[in-house]
Amino acid sequence: MKKISLTFDDGPWQETTPHVLEVLKKYNAPAAFMIWGEHAEKYPELLKEEAADPLFTIGNHTYHHVDLTKVSLEKGKNELKKTDQVIETITGKHPVVIRPPYGSINKEVLSYMDRPAVIWSIDTKSWDHHDKDKVLEAVQDL
Ligand SMILES: [Zn+2]
Repeated sequence: MKKISLTFDDGPWQETTPHVLEVLKKYNAPAAFMIWGEHAEKYPELLKEEAADPLFTIGNHTYHHVDLTKVSLEKGKNELKKTDQVIETITGKHPVVIRPPYGSINKEVLSYMDRPAVIWSIDTKSWDHHDKDKVLEAVQDL
């Protein structure tokens, strides 16, 4: 039997996150939310709702959504640290994984990551087309 993990990047988003939460809760479906720090500050109530449910895992997706391989070591560390602080202030919880934006990772980035990095095996590109049929098509080839 094949297994999948659902992960949602870049939120919370005011328009879409409530719908995603509603459907995941309806089907009791576990998922991980990879949090963009700036968005968490804009929509703290949505992050609180994600973090409060044991179905969901919270990950750090940097504060400004930067490609960690294209910034200095110091800036990369600060991106993760600031996002940790934002998430901890809002939820009281420490994000358990890191999702490097764009899946970009190298030895230098790995040198300061203190938690597992979660990358993906399939990108449905839903962020580009917003088409559920294309998402289904992408995952049916698994
Ligand atoms: Zn992202």
